[in-house]
Amino acid sequence: MTDYLNHFIAGESASASDGRRMELIDPVTEHVYASAARGTVEDVARAVAAAHGQLEGGPWSQLSGAQRGRLLARLADLVERDSEQLADMDASAIGRSPMEPRRMDLPNAIANLRAAAGWANQLEGRTIPTGGYFGSPTLSYTVREPVGVVGAIMPWNSPLMITVWKLAALLAAGCTVVIKPSEETPQSALHLAALAQEAGFPDGVINVVTGYGNEVGRALCEHPHVAKISFTGSPEAGREIQRTAGVLFKRVALELGGKSPQIVCEDAVFEDAVRGCALGLFANQGQVCAAGSRILVHSSIAQRFAAALADAAQSVNVGDPRQDGVQMGPVAKKAQFERVNRYIQLGIDQGATLLAGGVSQHERGWFVRPTIFTDARNDMAIAQDEIFGPVGTIITFDTEAQAIALANDSSYGLAATVWTTNLVRAHRIAAAVKAGAVGINCWSPLDANLPWGGIKTSGIGREGGISGALAYTEEKVITVLLPS
Ligand code: NAD
Repeated sequence: MTDYLNHFIAGESASASDGRRMELIDPVTEHVYASAARGTVEDVARAVAAAHGQLEGGPWSQLSGAQRGRLLARLADLVERDSEQLADMDASAIGRSPMEPRRMDLPNAIANLRAAAGWANQLEGRTIPTGGYFGSPTLSYTVREPVGVVGAIMPWNSPLMITVWKLAALLAAGCTVVIKPSEETPQSALHLAALAQEAGFPDGVINVVTGYGNEVGRALCEHPHVAKISFTGSPEAGREIQRTAGVLFKRVALELGGKSPQIVCEDAVFEDAVRGCALGLFANQGQVCAAGSRILVHSSIAQRFAAALADAAQSVNVGDPRQDGVQMGPVAKKAQFERVNRYIQLGIDQGATLLAGGVSQHERGWFVRPTIFTDARNDMAIAQDEIFGPVGTIITFDTEAQAIALANDSSYGLAATVWTTNLVRAHRIAAAVKAGAVGINCWSPLDANLPWGGIKTSGIGREGGISGALAYTEEKVITVLLPS
C-alpha cells in the first residue's frame, strides 16, 4: 500500500490535469512507497489564479499585519503539535535519521513562524524629507507592499525547514504562494498547507503543486502573475531559473550550494574543532548546503587532526536510520550515490590520500561510507566542487594569510567556520573571508532572527530575520503636495 499524494490548490486536493503521477522511492529499501500528482502547466495556472485572487481583493488582502501575525502564530502551534510526524516524513523520504530533523529542522521552523508572526506587524515605511515641489512643501512617505504571488521552488535535503523559511517571511509580508516541493519530498509541504488551512488561512493563500522542475518549476517561472521566484537548490537549476524569470523581470532570490571552509588554527580547542568539523561533514549525510567540506588545518596540527577526523568518520554507525543506534542513513537517491562515488574516485585519481571511507559498493540502499581525504590541494575537484555527500577534504596551511587565501579560492561563498581561541584573530579572519555567514567556534549556527544566504555561486538574496520578510515587499513612495 503506497501513499497517494495530490496537489493542494485553493484549499482542495487535486490530481494532475492529465492524471499523470510520479513515484517516490525509499532510499533505504529502494521500494516505491508513495506516488504524487505530476503537475502540468494547467495545474500551475489554477494554483497561481487562486493565489492571485487572494491578493486582488480576496479576504487575505483585507487582513492587517497583526491579523496575519495571529494566523502565523496559530500555524506555529500546529506545526509544533505535529512536529514528530513532520520530522519523520522528511527523514524517511531521504533516508535521514529522524533525530536530526526533530532536534534541528522542526525547532528552527517553529521559531521562524513565531518570529514571522511578529514581523508581520513591523514592516514599517519611512517619512522622507524632500526639497518640495516647484516651491511648495510636500510630505513624502513610503509603505511596504507585498511583492505579489511567489513561486517557491524547494530542494529535498531539509524540505520542511527550508519551505518554512520562505513561507513565514512571505506570509508576514502579505504575499501568497505556490510551493513546488522537490519531486523527492512533497509530503511535508502538503501537510504544512493542510495545517495552514486548519489555522484559518484563507484558501488560495498557500498552494502546493507537486511535480518535476522542468515542468512545474518552469511553468512557475514563466507565469505572468508570479511576481517573485524564491529558489533553493543547485547552481545549475538556479542559472536556468534566473534566465527564464529574468526575461520577465520577476524578482528572483537564489539560495544555492556551497563548498564551505572550516579553518582550524593551531590554537583551536582540538576536541571541539574535531567534533564541529565532523558535524559539519556528516550531518544529513553531508547533504547540507552549508556543509563544512573543506577542512583547512594549520600544518603543525594537521597530522593529528586528520587522524582524529578519520576516527570520527570510522565511528559513524551507517545503516537503516529507523533502527536504534544508527547515526547515518543512505544518501537520498541513486543519482546522489553515483555522484558522491564519482568524486571519491576522482579524489583518489587526482592524488589525495584516502584516510577513511572510500568508494562504496551498491547492495540495497544508497549507503555511502563517511570519507576523509588528506594531502589534498585546493585546485582538486574534491576541494572545488560541491559533492553533497559525507566527504571531507583536508588541506594544510602555514600562515593566517594562506588560510584566508585558500578559504576564498572558491567559486562559492555561503558559509565558513573559524576554530581558534584567539578572538582577535577570529574576528580578523571572519572579516576577510568572503561568505554570507561565518561561525566562530561553531559550525553553521541557524536562528530565526539571523539572515541566511550566500555570495558568488552560492546565490542572491537573504532569507531569515526581518530582512528576509522585507525581501518579499516592494517599497512604494507617496508624495502629497502641501500648498500654503
Ligand atoms: P535541484 O536544483 O536539483 O532542485 C531544486 C528544485 O528545483 C527542485 O524542486 C527541482 O524540481 C527544481 N528545478 C530543477 N530544475 C528546474 C528548472 N529548470 N526550473 C525550475 N525548477 C527547477 O537541487 P536539489 O538537488 O533539490 O538540492 C540540492 C542543492 O540545493 C545543492 O546544491 C544544495 O547546496 C542546495 N541547497 C542550498 C541551500 C541554501 O540555503 N543555500 C539549502 C539547501 C540546499
